[in-house]
Amino acid sequence: MLNFDFNAHEIWFVTGAQLLYGGDAVKHVDAHSNEMVKGLNDSGKLPVKVVYKGTVNSSAEVTATMKAANNEAKCIGVMTWMHTFSPAKMWIHGLQQLKKPLLHFHTQFNKEIPWDTMDMDFMNLNQSAHGDREFGHIVSRMRKACKVVVGHWQDPKTQEKIAVWQRVCAGWADAQDMLLIRLGDQMNNVAVTDGDKVEAEMCLGYHVDFCNIAKVRDYQNDVTDAQIKELVDVYKKEYDCSAIKDGSAEYEQVVKAARIEIALRRLLKETGAKAFTTHFDNLDGIDQLPGLACQRLMAEGYGFGAEGDWKTAALARTMYVMGQGLPKGCSFLEDYTLNFDGANSAILQAHMLEVSPMIAEHKPKLEVHKLGIGGKNPPARLVFTSKQGEGVASTVVDMGNRFRLIVNKVDCIKSKPLPKLPVASALWIPRPNFEVGAGAWIIGGGTHHSAFSYDLTVEYWQDYAEIAGIEMLTIDENTTIDSFKKDIRINEVYYMLSKALQ
Ligand code: MN
Repeated sequence: MLNFDFNAHEIWFVTGAQLLYGGDAVKHVDAHSNEMVKGLNDSGKLPVKVVYKGTVNSSAEVTATMKAANNEAKCIGVMTWMHTFSPAKMWIHGLQQLKKPLLHFHTQFNKEIPWDTMDMDFMNLNQSAHGDREFGHIVSRMRKACKVVVGHWQDPKTQEKIAVWQRVCAGWADAQDMLLIRLGDQMNNVAVTDGDKVEAEMCLGYHVDFCNIAKVRDYQNDVTDAQIKELVDVYKKEYDCSAIKDGSAEYEQVVKAARIEIALRRLLKETGAKAFTTHFDNLDGIDQLPGLACQRLMAEGYGFGAEGDWKTAALARTMYVMGQGLPKGCSFLEDYTLNFDGANSAILQAHMLEVSPMIAEHKPKLEVHKLGIGGKNPPARLVFTSKQGEGVASTVVDMGNRFRLIVNKVDCIKSKPLPKLPVASALWIPRPNFEVGAGAWIIGGGTHHSAFSYDLTVEYWQDYAEIAGIEMLTIDENTTIDSFKKDIRINEVYYMLSKALQ
């Protein structure tokens, strides 16, 4: 599995205070901070360990801590909390330095007011209510990207919000050294999958390279029969292979698919790529479109985009990391065909072949069929229908002057088998309904490809857009076409002006 190692990373917790209240107060602040951080870590809710980095009482201490956070590769985000009043001018230089994602935690040590015992000493020590506002002011004044989480630190709901942000920090950190390789260019003439790769690297972190398909072809020659047999045995164990009889023409195609998979995986490993794209029209020396290989590599964590769609491939990798270990899974998908059925009008999601088996409802079936595009031999593929339930579809498009993230809440409903179209598929109704959901997506300029997840929610993508500093358009139960268009017009002005002011 190409997983981001949550255990090898940490979130720093920095408590703000000042020295006005004497040495005893500092000791209390430290003890409370330690107890809170321990409580957060022991909650079992957080995927990444929180590490208490001490209390900061001056501008020099804040700046030193933020610089250290930047330079510590293990640190993927910084949480701040003001135990006492912490005059916020002391945060200016440190926040100017900070390059890691920031979460401001508005909480306090005690859950309830100790009505009978509270005195002025208590009040001097426990000042989060106004200390956190002073801090919030400077963050806002500096236009610094920040997630604000409000809630008591022992409340599971609060912890879950921190967990969401931590997962986004992981996805963000993972993207900062992501290499994506394009086996071929974008499909000719297609607009939406194209874009500015330089801007993408500056803005979103990942690096996009070209790779000649001849590399896969060369690696194929090194694949041994023993490696192929081992992999075909894995297929037999993991999938329903009843349609593939040993020694049949279909079996031979599965063997060739296994050879492609081994070669492709080796290429990805040797280049260190975390995401890749293919193109059905760029398969010289390859027997068949790598369907099965792409499906399996996606389930291992590789970001994938078809027809050279590198933006969706990178997003799919980030989506995988953010949802790592969560139960229902994610996949690259394409809006395939529409089903008009009144209130249940829905969009069939599929692709020629490349849908991740992570979203399968039942054991996928391994099949081989002719593909009427690309002029290659019949490819092996996993055939299944998806689980049901809520999820989010996401895409990033290049608007010329900025990247736009579009996120649509969708409900996957029971799909029907497609005996004459043996591909993997999902069937979803976009929120708030088919008409408004699909309409808004089109108005927003969204792709026909998307990165889909059952486990993520709109909140994950809000946190991601905040960290990346990119535009986000949400389509959910509250969307109307009118308000959506207004958002787009307002954003147009906002991004134009904010760029001019930089
Ligand atoms: Mn496509």
